[in-house]
Amino acid sequence: MSLRPLPYSRQDISEADIEAVTAVLRSDFLTQGQELPAFEAEFAALHQVPHAIAVSNATAALHIACLALGVGPGSRVWTSPNSFLASANCALYCGATVDFVDIDAATRQLSMDALATKLAQARAEGRLPQVVIPVDFAGLPCDWPGLRALADRYGFKLLQDASHATGATLDGRPMGSAWADISVFSFHAVKVVTTAEGGLLTTRDAALATTLQRLRSHGMVREPDQMQNPPDGPWSYEQQLLGFNYRMTELQAALGRSQLRRLPEMQARREALAARYDHLLAGLPLRLAPRREGARSAWHLYAIALDDAALAVTDRRAVFEGLRARGIGVQVHYIPIHTQPYYRALGFAPGDFPAAEDYYARCISLPLFPAMSDADQDRVVDALRELLPRQD
Ligand SMILES: *Cc1c(COP(=O)(O)O)cnc(C)c1O
Repeated sequence: MSLRPLPYSRQDISEADIEAVTAVLRSDFLTQGQELPAFEAEFAALHQVPHAIAVSNATAALHIACLALGVGPGSRVWTSPNSFLASANCALYCGATVDFVDIDAATRQLSMDALATKLAQARAEGRLPQVVIPVDFAGLPCDWPGLRALADRYGFKLLQDASHATGATLDGRPMGSAWADISVFSFHAVKVVTTAEGGLLTTRDAALATTLQRLRSHGMVREPDQMQNPPDGPWSYEQQLLGFNYRMTELQAALGRSQLRRLPEMQARREALAARYDHLLAGLPLRLAPRREGARSAWHLYAIALDDAALAVTDRRAVFEGLRARGIGVQVHYIPIHTQPYYRALGFAPGDFPAAEDYYARCISLPLFPAMSDADQDRVVDALRELLPRQD
């Protein structure tokens, strides 16, 4: 096949992005300069939230978010099995116990019904979670007002894994601004805004923001008025917490600032491609990417699921391999976390979360990235038409 391979995702780096990074390389500060606070301020303004704390990656962000919310040995943390490993591992880093809430087949996100049922049961057994980590899978906002109502009713904290959802809104409110106690964003190279590797936390709570800033950098305090003991001199710093080096560099922050300026245009292109997939794939034996009333998705992923008519004659692996053989870069999101060997050793087993497992058996994430052309997309659709049974 002479056609160039089409990736499932690809970063969109402009000349302005490159200039922003090279300007940092020529400057005095490669780390701990002015790009980082500027990136945080611009992200916070765009997401309508008072505090933004940038870190080395979203996995680090989830780790310190759990710590700041008081997760430790004996804590219980719940998340969605249809997510990347980091959504659950963050609680294990803190010595907590992880459990999962099965997904809703329609939204592919943590099911609100399953959550409500599990919470009522946990209350009766005295085993309520301290923290629940909903994931805005594919960039589509979860039912955040509903989640907030359950959090208030049952007294748990909401840690939003918005790794897919930079730029997404619900009822006109950006992710990270209104409902969760802490929200986490990822700027890994495949995500909708990239700093190569990078992550960021938002919160409305000033005390949480201060704790997160300290956890990011060794638990250190440099401001004399924040110290527990009188400073020895202008060089003084105090360690008050056990923190980490989870800092983001100036190069990453500069790239992030430049990417954020381009987010509206990149998001508009993702939206146009998603609408075009909806239109072109209609009539094939597929469940298309879900939408939610009042929500604007970030469209990190456009994931299809083979429907029962397709599964009667083929399977996900055959379609996946057929697409790859045609040079079309597809992916699967996600292998349910609880089926991983590490989680099986903790006591989970296949069958525990059947909706997540059923979705996994059907799903394929199609190529979607801002520089993708309509012709690229037509290739994907033509290949699917070849590989799927006709609907007559
Ligand atoms: C990408 C991703 C992460 C981890 O992000 P990194 O920045 O790569 O550490 C966490 N959760 C979800 C849902 C992700 O997609």
